[in-house]
Amino acid sequence: MSDLRELYQQVILDHNKTPHNFRELKGANRASEGHNPLCGDHITLYLNLKDDRIEDIAFQGSGCAISKASASLMTSALKGKTREEAETLFGKFHDLVTADLDTSPDTDSLGKLAVFAGVREFPIRVKCATLAWHTLQAALNGADRPVTTE
Ligand code: ZN
Repeated sequence: MSDLRELYQQVILDHNKTPHNFRELKGANRASEGHNPLCGDHITLYLNLKDDRIEDIAFQGSGCAISKASASLMTSALKGKTREEAETLFGKFHDLVTADLDTSPDTDSLGKLAVFAGVREFPIRVKCATLAWHTLQAALNGADRPVTTE
């Protein structure tokens, strides 16, 4: 278990250092801002949504390693997915970070996102891990107001 935890931490640190899809998305038809005041995380998420499919997705922002790694892994997981698939994955991700400590992550459907199982031990970090997803939801719903995890 401690080996697994170390591996999870390493993935999060790597994605924090060199996040994927970390750029402004030119020609995005959806964008949304998210803010987690408890930690100071801030993210702008860009989407190019075409016929209910996420053709491209990118983000910018600043914050802790968990919020940044979460946005990096989320954007990698969602490129090419439909809106419905994205919402299903959000449900699974939310279950993952709020489940009991002894529940095994559903790695089949979560893939690399399972590394966030570790945040269950730190409830205050759940908001860091879900910020990108809440911002995604706002972007998908076309909200133009900044979202907050509060
Ligand atoms: Zn944070």
